[in-house]
Amino acid sequence: MLKQTQICGCFYCQKIFSSSELQVEDFIPEQDGEETVWCPYCGIDSVIGEQSGYALTPEFLARMNQYWFYSKD
Ligand SMILES: [Zn+2]
Repeated sequence: MLKQTQICGCFYCQKIFSSSELQVEDFIPEQDGEETVWCPYCGIDSVIGEQSGYALTPEFLARMNQYWFYSKD
């Protein structure tokens, strides 16, 4: 993933940015072949790219943020 420049969004800090802003060190290979991408703004591995099929709007990131970080009970 994220081999080509694409729009990325972080659903922790809810920043929307271009993958061209990412550094090589931000990509962490996982054992399953996927890559975890660390957000360059908040340092949390909560980045998704537009190739995931989601529309990366501020509203969507806000919903994801709510779901992942505030709906744990
Ligand atoms: Zn972030």
